[in-house]
Amino acid sequence: MPSRAVYLNPNKTWTDLRVRTERSPFFQRTNKRVLVVGGSVTGLTSAWLLLDLGYDVTVISDRYAPATPRVTGQIAGALWEYPPAVCGQHTDQSSVEKSKPWSLISRRVFEDIALGYRDDDHGVSLLMANFFFTKRLNHPEMHGQFQKMKEIEKIRIPGFRYDPALIEEHCIPPEANVIDAYQHEAPVIDTDAYLVWLKELVTDKGAILETLEAPIEGDLFDQEYSLLRQYHADAILNATGLGANELAGDPTVYPVRGSLLRVKNDGRCFPKITEVLAVSNTDLNKSDDIVFIVPRNENTLLLGGSVEPHKWSLALTQESKIAKEMRERCENFVPALRNAEPDEVPFVQGLRPFRQGSSRIEADGRIHGDGRSSRIVHAYGHGGSGFTLSFGSALLTFKLLDHLLENTFTAKSVNGNGVHHNDCLMVTI
Ligand SMILES: Cc1cc2nc3c(=O)[nH]c(=O)nc-3n(C[C@H](O)[C@H](O)[C@H](O)COP(=O)(O)OP(=O)(O)OC[C@H]3O[C@@H](n4cnc5c(N)ncnc54)[C@H](O)[C@@H]3O)c2cc1C
Repeated sequence: MPSRAVYLNPNKTWTDLRVRTERSPFFQRTNKRVLVVGGSVTGLTSAWLLLDLGYDVTVISDRYAPATPRVTGQIAGALWEYPPAVCGQHTDQSSVEKSKPWSLISRRVFEDIALGYRDDDHGVSLLMANFFFTKRLNHPEMHGQFQKMKEIEKIRIPGFRYDPALIEEHCIPPEANVIDAYQHEAPVIDTDAYLVWLKELVTDKGAILETLEAPIEGDLFDQEYSLLRQYHADAILNATGLGANELAGDPTVYPVRGSLLRVKNDGRCFPKITEVLAVSNTDLNKSDDIVFIVPRNENTLLLGGSVEPHKWSLALTQESKIAKEMRERCENFVPALRNAEPDEVPFVQGLRPFRQGSSRIEADGRIHGDGRSSRIVHAYGHGGSGFTLSFGSALLTFKLLDHLLENTFTAKSVNGNGVHHNDCLMVTI
């Protein structure tokens, strides 16, 4: 099958995405409908942008949050991180580079949501995130981490401070073996709240959400015409995470199993933890040294994390070796956590949807037997960073779909009164 995949640079036209407060519609409807397959963070964030920018949207998914078993997006930390993430696995450097602008686009939007909509139940907050290291950052072996920190400083992420004194300030004991540290402000997303909020937001904006009785089976390309017909759609967005292994016929999609303990953070059993405390893994395939302590909301603290590539089963329990080790690492880091009591949901596990090389945000590119090009755009393989990348990914997805459907977005603004200009595009809440 000849392939002519389209790839657009996410920063080609707009470098920034902002949330605007006015609810009045700014764009003419395109009278075109996109069928989004997958109802977690990637699919729903893309639906939000598409709706605001003039498209009609139907979302189909076998599960949405809250669901049993939980969708992967609901299990996530979810800490926004400048790539690569603490529990991140990037199989090549180009993947890290590609994801940087996407992460910054998302950061800006999460910041807008956290600061501008304090009363909404969106679950997004801005916390101080502290990153600790077992070697000095100027040590030759720490080159990658040092570069990452220098970039964070250069792009002026708020609250940045490089100072080993952070170790003492946070009472991290010598047994934790950390000797260097920096901090900055970071969005933290309570995914239980956020995914429900997102679902309601896109529904209010007119999206039709359908829960499928069973997961779709087989390559979407083979059922493209029937899906387009059934849902009166003009194009399909595949945002099925790990499901893309089958739905995009992509064997390079694989799971990296992760788990988190959840404990009560109400200040009764240990002094309430209000900042993120993290130590990155140094070996990408192991979680021996990860510490991931994240206040999820007012009452729950997450303790993690674990990284197990190519493990498909979800058979871990709190008693599993990897979970016990995870807890021990967090307790060594903050000894008061030995008194921590389990939350109502004490343990969660999920399969991060990784893809060999990097995530895939591109048009399918295959040609049907009748000579017509596929109208599928893919957005999957976001690994351990689906929230970090979500708005950047959605922006690129929108551009690809808009290109595919031959709309020239710039001609569509209602009266050109500044909703998007040179490098800024807006969505509404
Ligand atoms: C323990 C853990 C910690 C994490 N921490 C963070 C973090 O701190 N920060 C961060 O940014 N990310 C984090 N992540 C990663 C994040 O959860 C993922 O990157 C994100 O969920 C990917 O989103 P997605 O929408 O692409 O896929 P998913 O969340 O996997 O959603 C896929 C959707 O498609 C649907 N679907 C799949 N297959 C089919 C099918 N065949 N038919 C119909 N529907 C289908 C599913 O029901 C679901 O709705 C973490 C993940 C784990 C497991």
